Amino acid sequence: MGAGPAGLLLGQLLHKEGVDTLILERRSAQYVAGRVRAGVLEPGTVGVLERAGVAGRLRAEGLTHDGVEIGFRGRRHRIALKALTGKSVTVYGQTEVTRDLMEARAAAGAPSFYEVEDVQLHEITGARPRVTYRHAGSTHEVDCDFIAGCDGFHGVSRRSIPAAALSICERVYPFGWLGVLADVPPPWEELIYANSERGFALASLRSPTRVRCYLQCSLEDRVEQWSDGQFWDEFRLRMGEEIGARVQTAPSLEKSFAPLRSFVAEPLRYGRLFLAGDAAHIVPPTGAKGLNLAVSDVHYLYEALCGFYGEASERSLAEYSDRALRRIWRAERFSWWMTRQLHRFPGDEFDARLQQTELEYLFESQTAQANLAENYVGLPL
Ligand SMILES: Cc1cc2nc3c(=O)[nH]c(=O)nc-3n(C[C@H](O)[C@H](O)[C@H](O)COP(=O)(O)OP(=O)(O)OC[C@H]3O[C@@H](n4cnc5c(N)ncnc54)[C@H](O)[C@@H]3O)c2cc1C
Repeated sequence: MGAGPAGLLLGQLLHKEGVDTLILERRSAQYVAGRVRAGVLEPGTVGVLERAGVAGRLRAEGLTHDGVEIGFRGRRHRIALKALTGKSVTVYGQTEVTRDLMEARAAAGAPSFYEVEDVQLHEITGARPRVTYRHAGSTHEVDCDFIAGCDGFHGVSRRSIPAAALSICERVYPFGWLGVLADVPPPWEELIYANSERGFALASLRSPTRVRCYLQCSLEDRVEQWSDGQFWDEFRLRMGEEIGARVQTAPSLEKSFAPLRSFVAEPLRYGRLFLAGDAAHIVPPTGAKGLNLAVSDVHYLYEALCGFYGEASERSLAEYSDRALRRIWRAERFSWWMTRQLHRFPGDEFDARLQQTELEYLFESQTAQANLAENYVGLPL
């Protein structure tokens, strides 16, 4: 279910093992391919994409980043990811990952149906689950061994599990991110996470000629209220004088608002339905973990399904949820921590002083930096 990165990647990995898959997607292929989202890949994610045989363009065009910067009180502090962990991250947009996966699936001749409607899951707890859906005006039914619920936070898979069988943990933050994509060369070499008195800002990029920038904003803010000019003025102020003076502006190619949320539904298995990616969990984007977690879930689910088909045993399937959740919760913790330290929260002076203390400790302690770096480049799969 779903042709986001999780569904497409699982389909590709299983195709290479000779397992038949069918992908059902609610949106059009054009919409899915054009959706602008994440852009920082952990080395473990790159490894899984390589195993899936879709890392050619990523290797050629992805940008290797050996560090990130954190701005606070007018100064920037570099966290030397490579020096501290031996690992780097790769900047390569989710849009590109999606395109590579869609092209690989088309080349493999594996079936995908876009713009399907009224998707329903049946007999999930039996040995032969079924899916019914409408496509191009007619109703279809598929029976299968397993359903992989990769249909994102608003998908039908998680909602098909009885509420009593799921435990939900959630934290909603009192702000969102306004993001702008624009074709200008970034005047920064590595991502800058800035905690400014005016609120958080992130200077990011997608290529040597394209920037992706974000501002913390109120949940009441609407995209239409922010002209491009207002966005860039505010971004300059939050980035500080040095970067602010070098920021070039251009009309936004895309501008969107995303509320910030932490969310986990567990377990990830109900009968023959397995949840993976945003269908099961959401992280605030501050730790750059959403896409990476979707990929690690898929890696575990792929191994579980290979175990089932290879050894004709249910053992690996039974282990999937716990294996994936261990890593999910660590990424939830890190994403919450990054969000907590880098944004301006409504709250009392005690919280503000704790945040200041936490950041000052980070800038002075190699051990604290190594902790951040280890999580940022991604814990082992
Ligand atoms: C606006 C936004 C910005 C983001 N920015 C960042 C970022 O900067 N950094 C970061 O790390 N992460 C970011 N993320 C998170 C990251 O993009 C996701 O974690 C990632 O897309 C998860 O992949 P997925 O395949 O699990 O889910 P999705 O990408 O959501 O894919 C799920 C797919 O299922 C389809 N679907 C839904 N319902 C149905 C249905 N009933 N039937 C069939 N198909 C269905 C959807 O149309 C979608 O194509 C962002 C997310 C959003 C929403």
